[in-house]
Amino acid sequence: MQLIRDVNEFQRATERARQTARLGFVPTMGALHEGHLSLMRLAAQRADRVVVSIFVNPTQFGPNEDLSRYPRDLESDLGRCRSVGVDLVFAPEPGAMYAPNERTRVVVSELTRGLCGAHRPGHFDGVSTVVAKLFALVGPCVAVFGRKDYQQLKVIERMTRDLFLPVEVIGHPIVREPDGLAQSSRNRYLSSEDRERALGLSRGLDAANRAFAAGQRDPARLEGLVREILRHAGVEAEYVSCVDSEELAPWAGAIDAPTALLAVAAFVGKTRLIDNCLLGETLVDSKQEGAG
Ligand code: AMP
Repeated sequence: MQLIRDVNEFQRATERARQTARLGFVPTMGALHEGHLSLMRLAAQRADRVVVSIFVNPTQFGPNEDLSRYPRDLESDLGRCRSVGVDLVFAPEPGAMYAPNERTRVVVSELTRGLCGAHRPGHFDGVSTVVAKLFALVGPCVAVFGRKDYQQLKVIERMTRDLFLPVEVIGHPIVREPDGLAQSSRNRYLSSEDRERALGLSRGLDAANRAFAAGQRDPARLEGLVREILRHAGVEAEYVSCVDSEELAPWAGAIDAPTALLAVAAFVGKTRLIDNCLLGETLVDSKQEGAG
């Protein structure tokens, strides 16, 4: 497995690799867990060589967010990448992705208005900008993103389509702990009490999913179910939103589509966690789907 830190060297390496192989690409911020590794395994199924980036992107963090304390552990991340057969890791130095006089932002409108976009101003501009830069360095590839960050996946899909980028974007189901908690690099911030409280997110979504399966089509009722369970678990909801699964727009009335996105962000102590489910899709974890 090759580790590259330099932007130009990385671009040359991917260009070389593309002569003989189809590239699979998984962008990450490191602190890798089983969710990330599943994305890498899927990339390996869909491509000949797997490229992973590890970069804690400063432009997607707000001034009061956890950029400085975001977990960083390159050595153990490299070991994890090696364990799933990654070919090339790109881990640029913090300053390398943004020249001091850089002036460019990629902005995806509308899709970024609600959900996390409403609570993290500028977050998705940072995400779409860094992913566009990474796509420019990797070149034509199949890129795998997790549905854990569903809004991010939709933003990247739309950016890629709108800008005719030569990348096939595919989504991977949410990878969960056995008790239902969605895997996240931020889970390591949780005390054991908070870890227990955090189950309110997946349990709330589960309850709403069952209500949807039983015929409930009122988005406010479905959101209310999640809020109730969060309150009971002692978790402070930032938002609970039921929206359409493509445009991420709120429903005018009852849900009149076979599926809908139910997304939640909540503070468990000081830690902000997100989770979501596609109502109308059976809640299966990725292991049952055979994606690893
Ligand atoms: P991050 O390092 O948090 O920026 O995540 C990198 C990629 O891994 C993103 O596409 C995330 O959606 C994805 N990811 C993170 N956690 C999970 C999870 N539990 N299940 C599936 N994908 C995930």
